[in-house]
Amino acid sequence: MAPVSIFSDNVRENPPASPEPSSPLNARNLAFLDSLKSAYPDFFFKPGRKFLFRPKRTIFYLEDNDNFRFLLLHELAHALLKHFSYDTSLERLTLERDAWEKTRQLCSDYKVPFLDSLAEAELNTYRDWLHKKTLCKTCGLSCLEVNSESLYCPFCQKTYPRP
Ligand SMILES: [Zn+2]
Ligand SMILES: [Zn+2]
Repeated sequence: MAPVSIFSDNVRENPPASPEPSSPLNARNLAFLDSLKSAYPDFFFKPGRKFLFRPKRTIFYLEDNDNFRFLLLHELAHALLKHFSYDTSLERLTLERDAWEKTRQLCSDYKVPFLDSLAEAELNTYRDWLHKKTLCKTCGLSCLEVNSESLYCPFCQKTYPRP
């Protein structure tokens, strides 16, 4: 067996000579972003402090995130489903659930692994939020959402303005 040259090891371990790219996105994520930009020229993709869809056309993304492609597809799902507004918290939860279903489809189109546990965790934060928002101030039980302005507690049989 030929002796391994120390020199060639050094060469291999040297960092690439090319300068750091100006974008903090890695090459794979940058290429992915570019492919979405050309597939959806009607939408604006902008770096931001979190993953967020702002109606009607802007998708913000966090550049440094392990699940970049997955979360970007999720915001794209909101945009494609035209999730511009919601009237009740329950409706918001429904929109969120629909967006994850659409994300699942986009993931399969783009060959991005669908992260069930992350999707479930995100949905649960909405469920918790919804639950806390609709507890009766008097008895603490869950109220029903009558409409965007009022809640109804079946136990107290009273209608409350929404917080
Ligand atoms: Zn969402
Ligand atoms: Zn009550």
